[in-house]
Amino acid sequence: MAAKTTQSVQSRIAQYLYTHPYATKAELGQALSISMPTIFSAVNEMFGANILESAGEMDSTGGRKATAIRLNPAYASSLGLSITRSTVQMVLIDLQGEILAQKKLSFSFSGSSVDLEKIANETKNFLKDISEYPPLLGCGIALPGIIQKEDKVLSRSHALNLENYSLTGFEHCFDMELLFENDANAALLAERPLANENLTFLYLGRTVGGTLVSQGKIVQGDDCRAGEFGHMILYPNGKSCYCGKRGCADAYCSLTALMKDQNVPLASFMEKAFSENTEEAGAWYEYLDSLALLSSNLRMAFDTEILIGGPLSEYIGHDLEKLREKTKPYDRFDKKADYLKTAKIKHAASAIGAAEQLFLKKIKHL
Ligand SMILES: [Zn+2]
Repeated sequence: MAAKTTQSVQSRIAQYLYTHPYATKAELGQALSISMPTIFSAVNEMFGANILESAGEMDSTGGRKATAIRLNPAYASSLGLSITRSTVQMVLIDLQGEILAQKKLSFSFSGSSVDLEKIANETKNFLKDISEYPPLLGCGIALPGIIQKEDKVLSRSHALNLENYSLTGFEHCFDMELLFENDANAALLAERPLANENLTFLYLGRTVGGTLVSQGKIVQGDDCRAGEFGHMILYPNGKSCYCGKRGCADAYCSLTALMKDQNVPLASFMEKAFSENTEEAGAWYEYLDSLALLSSNLRMAFDTEILIGGPLSEYIGHDLEKLREKTKPYDRFDKKADYLKTAKIKHAASAIGAAEQLFLKKIKHL
């Protein structure tokens, strides 16, 4: 028989408030099916431990106004790093997910021990420059590639050109708890998905990745490769993909595929893409065609909302209706393609989500 999982009442309350800005005690009792005396006593203890704070009085239609409560941002903070081929993004966030400080470094990461020392030192200096912050739980690190979390191994990263790379080297350089996550999964965690949510997260950056969320949890798959949407074949015998196959979604829906010149800043490229009769506008039009096909395939496979994240998400937001229009003809089930949405967190999402892991772990064990 499978072991019964027990989650404390405090943990369940914190988990609810982690994905809701605030709630009254009555709302908590109802949402979590917990009796009011139990809610009162757990909430009192959580106020005593500084985990919760008052969020002011709720509007009332009569009678006594109920007090809203929320997670106390001063309870804890968490660091997040996102390491790419050419940059390291750092953020410090509080328990409400607010960014307290951030910094982006140009950094060419080879994985050497010298690089690890440098990143650890930069992180120390980053923290030193912040005058005051809540107690630090640790640091989450997002990396572009497939991570075997239990073995602490980056089994493969095309972007960093690393294979079977042990992540324990980081632990020798950082004197705090570290948690690792794939960059797309991390960007999804920055969205703080609801405990019972099912969704498909499509990450559009230099490469195409994604995450499948079932009942609020990331589906990892047998070999931690679930959500590698970039290597689903869109066009048989199509353009070559870096993975060695032809016609992969990555060869059509990545930033690399969209922009001929990778040295042009994305914002300037997109400015031209939104202008009429430019070469960039043509490339963007074709890009949306392929993205519509990929979106429709994901909808058929998983039948969930599709949340588009990553560096391209804010521009997709600008043309979301156009993308929905292009997706509709592929879909005989949905009259509107309004299951297509863009992520809330547009910047530094992988670093923020990497940091969120520490909060999730803390909340789970309350
Ligand atoms: Zn491929």
